[in-house]
Amino acid sequence: MHCPFCQHLNNRVLESRSAEAGRSIRRRRECLRCERRFTTYERIEYVPVTVIKRSDDRELFERSKILRGIVRACEKTPVSSLAMESIVDDIEAELQQRATREVTSAEIGEMVLTKLQAMNEVAFVRFASVYRQFQGIRDFAETLSQLQHGEEIAQGDGPGLGSPGAGSSEPGHFENGQSSSYIVSA
Ligand SMILES: [Zn+2]
Repeated sequence: MHCPFCQHLNNRVLESRSAEAGRSIRRRRECLRCERRFTTYERIEYVPVTVIKRSDDRELFERSKILRGIVRACEKTPVSSLAMESIVDDIEAELQQRATREVTSAEIGEMVLTKLQAMNEVAFVRFASVYRQFQGIRDFAETLSQLQHGEEIAQGDGPGLGSPGAGSSEPGHFENGQSSSYIVSA
């Protein structure tokens, strides 16, 4: 690392500490020749991942887009924002591990569903209704039965009722857009 003042190559580290909420390390350095000080940051390098959407459009993977959908699905449930963030962290890490740099939006949706399934069933069903584009009660019942066949779901005691995330992305057709209950006899 060249000194930004005299271009000398050698310096010593005066101080190292975690920065940007643990995402980087900040080092205060001193040039061994001119003795001036400068700061460097060390970060993990993220490889950009492309998301292929249903429309076949491609766009760069963005955490915030996934998080937004999760937040909407988790409204009024006991799922903490930390837990929501951790879902996105896990998915991002998983995508970084892959050999391929492309992923379909449907795959991401299913990844989110797998995580939500273990956290909160209301959030799971809400997210599924948007992601799988429920067209009617049958789709709804199928997802519910998948939920029942899944592993034990933590029994969150949050409100089990509510409208399925009023979002811009057109959730499936619930009667008048207002599903009063998630209890459906399949
Ligand atoms: Zn220098």
